[in-house]
Amino acid sequence: MTLDTPTVAFVTVLVVCLQGGILTALWLIHRDMRGIGFWAGGALLVAVGVMGSFLLSRSLPSATLVVSNVAIVAGLAITWWGIDAFFGRRPGYRLGLVILTITAVGAAYFVGTENSRGRIIFLLGVFALMAGLRIYSLLREVEPGTRFSQFFTSTALGAQAIYYLVLATTVFSLPPVEKPLAQVPFFGWLFLIPMLLSIMVVFGVVLLVNQTIATRLKESARRDVLTEALTRRAMEEVAEDELARSRRHDLPLSLLLLDIDHFKLVNDQYGHAAGDTALRQFAGAVRRCLRREDVFGRLGGEEFCALLPSTAVGGAAQLAERIRQSVANLAVEAGGHRLSMKVSIGVASLGEHGGNWDELVNQADRAMYAAKRAGRNRVIVGEAQPAATGLPG
Ligand code: GH3
Ligand code: MG
Ligand code: MG
Repeated sequence: MTLDTPTVAFVTVLVVCLQGGILTALWLIHRDMRGIGFWAGGALLVAVGVMGSFLLSRSLPSATLVVSNVAIVAGLAITWWGIDAFFGRRPGYRLGLVILTITAVGAAYFVGTENSRGRIIFLLGVFALMAGLRIYSLLREVEPGTRFSQFFTSTALGAQAIYYLVLATTVFSLPPVEKPLAQVPFFGWLFLIPMLLSIMVVFGVVLLVNQTIATRLKESARRDVLTEALTRRAMEEVAEDELARSRRHDLPLSLLLLDIDHFKLVNDQYGHAAGDTALRQFAGAVRRCLRREDVFGRLGGEEFCALLPSTAVGGAAQLAERIRQSVANLAVEAGGHRLSMKVSIGVASLGEHGGNWDELVNQADRAMYAAKRAGRNRVIVGEAQPAATGLPG
């Protein structure tokens, strides 16, 4: 198959403009997400540079060629910065500007010495470097929810980098002529291959935005808005996994059920807004006592729970006591008042108090109510269940 070069060049220009348009639309839709504006701006700048390199440089002075080449690399650098901005990191502005300066000097040198072979090899090297930098930023932190789009985009960029290097080597191996690219054996495919790969890259970043939104939505649906503790349903899902894991590896697992004492009084005396502030601070105080692997949830109202993997009943009771003390020491400033809180905690452990989530909650709940009856502001461990120990009973 022979591909007509002017046509391919024209289509390439159309495609890069279209990509700029798609990314601009993406940016307009998701103005609140960082980095997408960089991608849109970068793609448009690449489009301008490609147009300049292909269409204008034939009739205009050679300075246009240098400016067009620098515009493409600037567009690639801005896209690279956008990836870091998207993931909430500080973009590598300084390195990008160094690369741009080197590109400008190099392109000017090769254009000045009328060495188009040198200029092409040099630029292809810079393109490959920019693809490498984008891959690095894309894969620095791989999140489960966006893994596919991160790897997909990186693969397309990796293929681009390899292509640029192969092309640079091919041009290098050819005798120096005025139009070295025309000598490349796969000339017809020259622009088509990077064009197809760049379509894949744009598809990949659109998918990345999509997967990021889906992940955020899923995550926010799992959390209570006021305290950021897991909702009851999310808690039950996590608990199922943790219970299965503990049973499989024969590891201890404990549950704390926490209910704030006389919380209705806080609302009655200081108002609902003060109650909300108190709840948020209570959740913060509990979380500070927990380990990373502990799971904290809000079962409803002023009732919370903490699932403690690899923790037997003794350790759980100690932790509950520490939580009780930190809550009691908490001085909450709310609505111009200073108020304090107390908490009653029930403890239950896998095996001793039950074999599934419902049984554990039940037993921890009973223990918590026993703490209420015994005067509140205390920790009570559930009574051991003979049936759950495996003994006939
Ligand atoms: P006890 O010591 O027996 O647990 O007494 P209590 O007052 O804490 O228990 P009760 O169940 O009678 O009252 C719970 C109160 O918690 C009632 C409700 O107004 C309040 N509450 C539940 N959810 C929220 C919330 O999201 N914000 C605020 N401000 N208050 C809440
Ligand atoms: Mg209460
Ligand atoms: Mg309650």
